[in-house]
Amino acid sequence: MRALVTGGAGFLGSHLCDALLGEGHSVLAVDNLLTGSVSNLSHLKNEPRFEFRLADICKPFDYGDFDYVFNFASPASPVDYSQHGIETLKVGSIGTMNALEVARKSRAKFLMASTSECYGDPPPEAHPQQESYWGNVNPIGPRSVYDEAKRFSEAMTVAYRRYHGTDTRMVRIFNTYGPRLQMNDGRVISNFMRQALRGEPLSVYGNGSQTRSFCYVSDEIEGILKLAHSNEYGPVNIGNPDEFTILECAKLVLEVTGAKSKIEFEPLPQDDPKQRRPDITLARKALGWEPKVKLREGLKLSLPYFQEVVNAVVAAQV
Ligand code: UDP
Repeated sequence: MRALVTGGAGFLGSHLCDALLGEGHSVLAVDNLLTGSVSNLSHLKNEPRFEFRLADICKPFDYGDFDYVFNFASPASPVDYSQHGIETLKVGSIGTMNALEVARKSRAKFLMASTSECYGDPPPEAHPQQESYWGNVNPIGPRSVYDEAKRFSEAMTVAYRRYHGTDTRMVRIFNTYGPRLQMNDGRVISNFMRQALRGEPLSVYGNGSQTRSFCYVSDEIEGILKLAHSNEYGPVNIGNPDEFTILECAKLVLEVTGAKSKIEFEPLPQDDPKQRRPDITLARKALGWEPKVKLREGLKLSLPYFQEVVNAVVAAQV
């Protein structure tokens, strides 16, 4: 089978390329490297079933036929998508449509990487979030460039299923972490790990009572592939339902790294969701999937990667 992975040089895209190659497929990764990095793919340079193309999927493209199209191209951290707001809106709309066209012409299975951000800032009665919840998104707030782009890409994906009969899947991804998470993307795990490993204070935004539910990358990729191979078209939440306050998360990073850093409180960004936790009943039933890696264990598994990046930065400064 031949698979296309848009955003293939990104954090999740690159892990997906590895997993698809592991299943025996040929993989073409396309990325414009706006937030992705070729270093995520450097271990594949001698792999004959793997190919990388530097390209922006917002321009129509034709790289032949595929059996699978995985649409993972987009800035994904709040810092990245605020910096690249227009590009984020374009890749969620025009880029997604171009990727859907490739799937339609190839009669490929299309899997859309959507997000828990479609739920916005859910009220207590929508907690944990089920797929049936429509969301509470500020359409003109600072997060809207990402949230509305992904909501539009869901609408476009479902329209291709409805009007063209394209065989689509949609996954709503919840906060995922692990090796290859960009150290400077501003996300909470990358920030806390970097700060702890450098002995700097950990920056907790607000009072740290907001919650997130963190999924280790191997669990996330396993769930995504199970969805791709199933008859369930979703959207399906794939995330770890273990919920932590951000303050608890900071303390866990200190424990795992052994750092003595202080915790410093900084202003909470506008529209920061107060709570987030996936209801994974559908994933359990339809895919027989559930996450295995607890946050403490996943942070330990990620530590060598973060340590290596911090060491490389220090070495480059000397
Ligand atoms: N956060 C924090 N300190 C940081 C980075 C993030 O306290 O250095 C908080 C942020 O305000 C949010 C949560 O951690 O409540 C998760 O943020 P992240 O940017 O990782 O992703 P989000 O889930 O908001 O998209």
